[in-house]
Amino acid sequence: MHSPIALAILAALGYGTYYLLACSAFPFASCRRCHGSGKHRNPFGAGHRLCRHCAGTGRRVRLGRRVYEYLAREHRRSLPGDPRPRR
Ligand SMILES: [Zn+2]
Repeated sequence: MHSPIALAILAALGYGTYYLLACSAFPFASCRRCHGSGKHRNPFGAGHRLCRHCAGTGRRVRLGRRVYEYLAREHRRSLPGDPRPRR
């Protein structure tokens, strides 16, 4: 059980668990383009403009959270008698 492959599998499982917890507890991560500031500095002056990727919020939805919401929506759609409108 102390082979490198077993250690690699354990590390991957541990990271996957950590990522799932992070996606459920903190669905937003800082924007990759503006690093969470929501602004871009103008290189020719002192002004700034809003980041287009996050629309100035500085946040983005984690990929794992998007996958979770997609799967949850598909599951809700499959349930019979759902009063909510289908999207
Ligand atoms: Zn941004």
